[in-house]
Amino acid sequence: MITIGLTGGIGSGKSTVSSRLAELGAFIVDADLVAREIVEPGQPALAELAEAFDGVLNPDGTLNRAELARQAFATPEATKKLNAITHPRIRARTEELFKQGRESGAEVLVYDMPLLIENGEVNKVDHVLVVDAPDELRIERLVQHRGLDEDDARRRIAAQIDRETRLSAADTVLDNSGSLEDLLTQVDGFWDGL
Ligand code: ADP
Repeated sequence: MITIGLTGGIGSGKSTVSSRLAELGAFIVDADLVAREIVEPGQPALAELAEAFDGVLNPDGTLNRAELARQAFATPEATKKLNAITHPRIRARTEELFKQGRESGAEVLVYDMPLLIENGEVNKVDHVLVVDAPDELRIERLVQHRGLDEDDARRRIAAQIDRETRLSAADTVLDNSGSLEDLLTQVDGFWDGL
């Protein structure tokens, strides 16, 4: 089995590529989904967060993410506390999913991870696949298709590593500056090449 690390800045088209690779038969490990799963009601991390931070549970018992973010990113110590609770669970669940992928019989595992490069997880995979589009185009798509306001889109892009750093870590780059159809053709070509 070959493992592909799929990454790209917000609004680059990463989710679109991930869906296509799933259609083509890849086993997908979705890092955002893992991060949400480990704090679902009933999960030990949620109880630990509720104990470590004040008022981070909604009335229905789910996590109040905005309140957690407000407290957890207020000081380096609070961030450390958050990471100490969540990171080991995320790591364990991710490893479990990689194992499931290996046992599934799929020939390709795609680790869909926005922070693949930022978190130094490039060496977890055989091949780094980066979806790329110019910042202005990403902002336009985030505003038009995802309903973000422009300042928010700019702030989110500015908080991530820059385009050049991401591109320099890539083994393959998919250029999403054209149409959706053009992007999907590139994904299919990449898949055939595997
Ligand atoms: P990411 O997962 O990288 O944040 P998405 O795949 O969700 O990005 O794409 C962001 C938005 O832009 C989505 O609404 C998507 O449908 C749209 N989009 C992606 N690629 C294109 C394209 N080539 N042309 C037009 N819209 C696109």
